[in-house]
Amino acid sequence: MEKLVSLCKRRGFIFQSSEIYGGINGFWDYGPLGVELKRNIRDAWWKAMVRDREDVVGLDASIIMHPRVWEASGHLTGFTDPMVDCKACKKRYRADQLCEELGITIETGSAEEHGFKLPPGTQCPACGSTDLTEPRDFNLMFKTFIGPVEDASSVAYLRPETAQAIFAQFNNVLSVSRQKVPFGIAQIGKAFRNEINPRNYTFRSREFEQMELEFFIKPGTDAEWHEYWVAERLRWYETIGLPSSSLHRDIHPKEKLAHYASACTDVAYEFPFGIQELEGIAARGNFDLSRHQEFSGKSMEYFDQETNEKYVPHVVEPSAGVDRIALALLCNAYAEEWVPTKDTGGEVLAADITASRPPEGYEMRTVMRFAPCIAPVKTAVFPLLKNKPELVAKAREVFEIAKACGPAFYDEGGAIGRRYRRQDEIGTPYGVTIDFDTLKDETVTLRDRDTMKQERVKIAELPALLK
Ligand code: ATP
Repeated sequence: MEKLVSLCKRRGFIFQSSEIYGGINGFWDYGPLGVELKRNIRDAWWKAMVRDREDVVGLDASIIMHPRVWEASGHLTGFTDPMVDCKACKKRYRADQLCEELGITIETGSAEEHGFKLPPGTQCPACGSTDLTEPRDFNLMFKTFIGPVEDASSVAYLRPETAQAIFAQFNNVLSVSRQKVPFGIAQIGKAFRNEINPRNYTFRSREFEQMELEFFIKPGTDAEWHEYWVAERLRWYETIGLPSSSLHRDIHPKEKLAHYASACTDVAYEFPFGIQELEGIAARGNFDLSRHQEFSGKSMEYFDQETNEKYVPHVVEPSAGVDRIALALLCNAYAEEWVPTKDTGGEVLAADITASRPPEGYEMRTVMRFAPCIAPVKTAVFPLLKNKPELVAKAREVFEIAKACGPAFYDEGGAIGRRYRRQDEIGTPYGVTIDFDTLKDETVTLRDRDTMKQERVKIAELPALLK
């Protein structure tokens, strides 16, 4: 993780928020490459979940909603984590994480019930003191005030998930979209949680982005649709380059489910810091729509014209985090290799981290093996020499062609080998070099990031090859 965090900062994927003021815990900024990476994740999700389907439509709702939304959803009373403070060193813990860290098994109740007690003598992992407070519930919603007066009547919340807006707009979307159950509403947007203990880089942040689908179904079809979405989502992760061997299905046992849910499966990834959730896929019954029906007094019933039945639809909810997926892709892409010093397409060796240096004729390279659809930059274009105007002019011409096929980068600075390495390190899949032969026969070399093989191709063929 240390190497990755350093690369992310050095190359402009991720910066600490407000770094010049010492940073702010749980908040991160995405630099020039990070923003492209995140955009590619969102685009891939939106394409698979909305544009390529006929049964899902989109929504982009406001972050601050009527506070009654959070009463109805149960977040106001129930969206809490148990917090423990060490009275000696003032360190604060999420009680369940503290227990996990100390290897303490909590027997009473499910995670939702909280209210458990720490065994006597539990020690603070930081200072060893046993003077810890009992776990107490802490609501994770960020509070703000609407308008100039800060009183109880103007309290509002930054949304802790994007899903509730979908339920609140269910009737409007249904009436304009000509959809019939089963159908879905998808949304991508920011969510905010005042996490007790943000950690593992961007994995647990206080401001993050979610990609959520509410797929509305006929009651009784929950199990089959849940299975469908778990399979569908696992497939999607492979399309963005996460191998199935690195993905896990974490099936929640029945006794750990919320009372209204019939199934929940997490998609988890093998991060360097452990196997952790990327996405939760839950069959939530009709809990949310029923609660909004109750609290708003507006009917959320759907009339099924085929069967002449009226019902409040059930829902299956695949809910993923953009930042966690970005982190998984970064972890998955990072590789260190020994490559021949002369970049002519010789054999590449996996770096032996126990050796002090590479063998004779080899050097170390860091390469980000992003799938091309996810790579922030798709093609880099290099004139062999920068002080030959005819090469530069031709390279600029080729750059325009490459740019029309996706994000491209033009680089004329330094030795060609160094320029290749710089692109390897940010995961650019293709490099195009313009040399003196180009001026004679309209061909360029096309270099593959992973094999480092170079082939001579006609400029006219580049658009088709790059696409
Ligand atoms: P966790 O158990 O890790 O706190 P959760 O089960 O509360 O997560 P959900 O409420 O199911 O998470 O949220 C759906 C998705 O939103 C998660 O799978 C994750 O990708 C993302 N997410 C949730 N909380 C955070 C966070 N603090 N930072 C980054 N992403 C998050």
